[in-house]
Amino acid sequence: MNQWSSTQSHAGCKQDWQERLTNSLANTQWSKSITPIADKIASGKRLSIDDGLVLYQHLDLTEVGRLANFVRKSRFDNFAFFNSNVHINQTNVCVLSCRFCAFRRSKKSSDAYSLDIEAYVDDLSIYADYVDEVHSVGGLHPDWDVHHYQQLFRTVKEKFPHITIKALTAVEIKHLSQLSKISFSEVLTILKDAGLGSLPGGGAEILDDEIRSIICNGKESSEEYLEIHKIAHEIGLPSNCTMLFGTVETTKHRLIHMDKLRRLADVTNGFQCFVPYPFLPDSSRLPEAQCATGSEVLRTIAISRLMLDSIPHIKAYRMNIGDGLAELALQYGADDIDGTVQKESIMHLAGSTTPLDHDLSRLSKLIENAGCIPVKRNTTYQKFEIFIPPKPKPRRGLKMAHN
Ligand code: SF4
Repeated sequence: MNQWSSTQSHAGCKQDWQERLTNSLANTQWSKSITPIADKIASGKRLSIDDGLVLYQHLDLTEVGRLANFVRKSRFDNFAFFNSNVHINQTNVCVLSCRFCAFRRSKKSSDAYSLDIEAYVDDLSIYADYVDEVHSVGGLHPDWDVHHYQQLFRTVKEKFPHITIKALTAVEIKHLSQLSKISFSEVLTILKDAGLGSLPGGGAEILDDEIRSIICNGKESSEEYLEIHKIAHEIGLPSNCTMLFGTVETTKHRLIHMDKLRRLADVTNGFQCFVPYPFLPDSSRLPEAQCATGSEVLRTIAISRLMLDSIPHIKAYRMNIGDGLAELALQYGADDIDGTVQKESIMHLAGSTTPLDHDLSRLSKLIENAGCIPVKRNTTYQKFEIFIPPKPKPRRGLKMAHN
């Protein structure tokens, strides 16, 4: 693909996109409360937490979305990204019980499962011909230490060298460090040497320890989440970061969360993508959750784009928010919709009805419907290809109908 290179997709090229942004905002009119924020963005100044609160309270959601969309377009023109991946959740056995989680099971539960290395590889082999990423997160298994994952990743890379392994959230890294009695850094180094290519961002929830003690007691602390990602970046493992919203946090908690992530990104330049997703409620988990509406999801995605100036990509995670809202989110600052996914349990057990398939044409149509150009990317946003869907084969009998 001509127009893109790896450096263009990352934060290092701010000067270029800032110039485009300044020019595109020069003659645009904004309402009174948004004008100072638009001026800051046009001059390359970072938005404050208070600016974020103004954006959360601003009545005209479309104006917030329009501002976010200016930033997205300055960075990526009309290109929007997706990839060809498969999610394999290696086990649902977990020693913790986060209150929002519909996925975890105790080891003795009748529907507990744990894929051994052979079963994992068998599962992956079904998709291996048409994916270039496997995304694996799961429960904190009491018996699987770092050597289990070392062996798993080595086996995957031996059998499928073209597949990038994006696996293990920060809490899984912490769990392996505790089980194996080695540091975070040693865990990450062992796994990187075995073939781990990047870390997903899951487990960030809200980076506030009071909120964490309510919704995910026992999980890694806010500091530990940031420390694990910092170490990953330092040893050359890029990562994503996430935010679970709509539980018991305030909008200020969300903005402080974003601020912590962008400050780490300032130092390491290692976050590729931010993935904000709402809590999917049911009657049993976290009954006190506020639950985010569709407009709040779009607003939070738009504000993420505006606040996170040092994290290049904002993902509309369609497994969580659905294809319809993901399409709309591309007009509210998001530039990525994740991938084909194909197998996924965590969001689907929590209530997601997003289709699991390997139809790249359907994904590209979703992007085109949002007025964007679909670009297939690899895990680390270093290889890009404008996706041109294969022409549908003429159906038998169609010709006869015209005769
Ligand atoms: S969110 Fe993760 S750590 Fe928490 S209970 Fe579920 S599987 Fe376990």
